[in-house]
Amino acid sequence: MDDCPQQTPLFTFGVIADIQYADIDDGYNYSRTRRRYYRGGLQLLRNAQESWSESPVKPEFILQLGDIIDGFNKDHGASDRALDTVLREFSSSAVEVHHVWGNHEFYNFSRSALLRSKLNSSPHADRSLSGALAGTDIYAYHFSPFPGFTFVVLDAYDVSLLGREETSEQYGDALSLIRQYNNNENLNCPPESEGLQQRFSMINGGFSKVQLDWLDSVLSSADEKRERVTIVSHLPVHPYSTDPICLAWNFNELLAIIRSHSSVVCYMCGHDHDGGYHRDKDTGVHHLTVEGVIETPPDGNAFGTVSVYEDRMVLKGNGRIADRVFLFPGCQSDADHREK
Ligand code: ZN
Repeated sequence: MDDCPQQTPLFTFGVIADIQYADIDDGYNYSRTRRRYYRGGLQLLRNAQESWSESPVKPEFILQLGDIIDGFNKDHGASDRALDTVLREFSSSAVEVHHVWGNHEFYNFSRSALLRSKLNSSPHADRSLSGALAGTDIYAYHFSPFPGFTFVVLDAYDVSLLGREETSEQYGDALSLIRQYNNNENLNCPPESEGLQQRFSMINGGFSKVQLDWLDSVLSSADEKRERVTIVSHLPVHPYSTDPICLAWNFNELLAIIRSHSSVVCYMCGHDHDGGYHRDKDTGVHHLTVEGVIETPPDGNAFGTVSVYEDRMVLKGNGRIADRVFLFPGCQSDADHREK
């Protein structure tokens, strides 16, 4: 951590991913290679909250990167109860939480129910003024916690078989897209290909043209104002930041937009419980996949605290999450660093 400056950060925020809480006994992931601690996540969230409340610079907000409760809750009729339990834990501090939606949100709730729920953290005014997104049911918004910094929350299941009525045009479009690559009867099973095409399963989704156009315009405005933008969503979009089985269907379209704007400094997501990190060679944008709470043993931890400075963000990881420094592309310190 030689790169860490000794000054006070402009602001800090917390990150936590894939809590997947359920009041059921431990189990295993789909391939039975990883244990899942369905109840244990609550204590790990409590550890995170305690650490954030005790930190010298209190977080301005928390990013909850999706899959807050597990799909098993639905089978037990416990979706509302489980969500209340986790949100009560979050509300033990007054810090604002920005919620991202993952596949497990849609296993438990319909899109319209989610939009009405406490998992809709978009500021009301922003939703009604969000240009192309006004009047849609896409869950995407942006906020600015500090002058010069913007965070964009994206909806990675806007194009998906999850949360859409089977009679809807969106469902039909998503089905024909996935069917081009996946011939399995059970579309939760990835196609038996190697590499990038494994992403075409029902546990993933993508971003519609409407949402991509909206993002493009948000980033153009941020470019003009020379802001620093961090994008957050549930699904990874850089193939080197994740197992490709977890990538967003049209990750390449989102990457192309990120690459065409100078304002983006970081993309953060969850979904791949093993986590991952890659710095995009062309742009210097940092792609961070945060390790999932659900596969973290009770004596471990999986949360991070990010301190933001003029020229960098410094991630202090806890437990499975590594410490990292994200130098902002284009800063003098970044140029010096890259020359070494
Ligand atoms: Zn997920």
